[in-house]
This record gives sequence, structure tokens and C-alpha cells, in this order.
Amino acid sequence: MRNLTIEEGTDFSWKQDANCLGINPDLFYPERGVSSAQAKSVCRGCTVKEQCLEYALQNGEKFGIWGGMSERERRVIRRERRLQRHQNVVTLRSSRQAVS
Ligand code: SF4
Repeated sequence: MRNLTIEEGTDFSWKQDANCLGINPDLFYPERGVSSAQAKSVCRGCTVKEQCLEYALQNGEKFGIWGGMSERERRVIRRERRLQRHQNVVTLRSSRQAVS
């Protein structure tokens, strides 16, 4: 399991159940153009995949495979979440204007 930036108050107990414990971390940081399939296959059956992915999303991890996803795949999720937050703000403003 790779090293995580320890932030006070953050629960990292999930990493004890990581499938990648004891696996060479380099596998999760493939060189450009090299397949990430092997790393993703380790992640596939990991019971803490969601926590791992969320950690990477929340901390803006720019490199490597986290939660079975590449940076490019995580970028898509971050963009979708941003759009959803924006949509929620627009909806909230519209409802407030309708009430007043
Ligand atoms: S999802 Fe993959 S990288 Fe994350 S803890 Fe599990 S095996 Fe490790």
C-alpha cells in the first residue's frame, strides 16, 4: 500500500483491508503508455475501493491508480461532481427567487 498523506482527524483504517497491501506500489504508477490493467485487476476485488477512490478524489491525487481508476477517469468524476454542485446552486437560487 502506498504512503498516504496523514491529515489529522482523517480515518485511514480502511487501508488495513487494502488488496494492494504488500504489492509493489510501482504497479499503481505505470509509466505513460504502459497498461494499468494489472493494477486495476488488483483493485477490482478490493473491499475498500470506494474509500480509496474517495481519498484520491478529495485529495486531488494527480497520479496513479486509486480505487481502480486512473487520473483521467477520476478527472471525469470530479468534473461531474463540479457540474452537479453548480446545478444544485442554480436550482437553490431558482427556488429562493420563486419563494420571494
Ligand atoms: S482500490 Fe486498489 S489502490 Fe485502492 S486500496 Fe484497493 S487495491 Fe489498493
